[in-house]
Amino acid sequence: MSRFLDSRYHSLVPYTPGEQPKILNLIKLNTNESPFPPSEKAVRAAEEEIKRMNLYPDPECRALREKYAEVLGEGITAEEIFVGNGSDEVLYLAFNAYKEKGFAFPDITYGFYPVYAEISGGEFSEIPIKSDYSIDLNKLAATKGTVVIANPNAPTGMTVTKEEIIALLNSDRNRIVIVDEAYVDFGGESCVGLIKEYDNLLVTQTFSKSRSLAGARLGFGIANKNIIADLNLLKYSVNPYNINRATLALGLGVLSDEEYTKKNCRAIMENREHTKRELEKLGFFVLPSKSNFLFASHPKCGGERVYSHLRQKGILVRYFDKDRLRGFVRITIGTKVQMNKLINELTMLTEEL
Ligand code: PMP
Repeated sequence: MSRFLDSRYHSLVPYTPGEQPKILNLIKLNTNESPFPPSEKAVRAAEEEIKRMNLYPDPECRALREKYAEVLGEGITAEEIFVGNGSDEVLYLAFNAYKEKGFAFPDITYGFYPVYAEISGGEFSEIPIKSDYSIDLNKLAATKGTVVIANPNAPTGMTVTKEEIIALLNSDRNRIVIVDEAYVDFGGESCVGLIKEYDNLLVTQTFSKSRSLAGARLGFGIANKNIIADLNLLKYSVNPYNINRATLALGLGVLSDEEYTKKNCRAIMENREHTKRELEKLGFFVLPSKSNFLFASHPKCGGERVYSHLRQKGILVRYFDKDRLRGFVRITIGTKVQMNKLINELTMLTEEL
């Protein structure tokens, strides 16, 4: 830290991204990426677009918003969509826009929420999840400020129902509820249709998971057009050209290849259920997941040991050094071959216990 840094940031603890190793041939199951490459159509579109990199991209991302509105259906229009540099950027802007009454989110959730709350200067409370690892919606509803929930939640993979979100929205129509749907395409139930009725709902989504574009950085905010105007106000005050040309082309390209996305999501869901059954046979406790990862613990072995054992064998998973999470590892769902390798290694580990 230099002596020039604003004192407001002296105690800021940044988010720790999952490891992005340089070693080749590691089976990378630690940051919830897709094991499948981006759609060929998308890659070809981006290759063409690179030739035009001398020109600034469209700050309005108009073509992409129109196409995504069409794919989302439910009467959503381009005016109800904001495009961000990953959904992280959408969340960052939203935390800055809606900080006045403070924030409430579960204590076990996406690790960026407390960081964004902190950097926004807003107060925040972390509401303990219940003993069954589900989100305590009643306690969240009883708070005053902006509520943020990931649905499915991370790192548990567990969902809340649309009815429960509706109850939360109704609990106070004068506060914003942000529903982070980063993992919704793996069996969750989207709330985007609710933005027509609820002007206090902001849904965020990403192309990093189901659409294999984590490296391109493309995320969305879907909400009433007044909320979209708030996000644009901040975006145009910071970085109007937030999405580069290649990423815009990739985004449009994947949306013209929805069959590919659906096929990949089906494969991930099948591999997830297969992996869950196999882990349970080995004595693991596995939370019911509707995402592209599993959160699992073993009664005879802490998460760190599982993580280290797998790491030695060339498989990377995520371990969280945090109360209530130390028993667990979070395992991203990869291909069938990758998951079978994981199960083989865990079979050997559990035989030693
Ligand atoms: N929300 C949740 C719950 C996540 O796990 C992630 C991925 N780390 C994000 C949002 C951000 O994803 P991205 O910025 O890649 O869209």
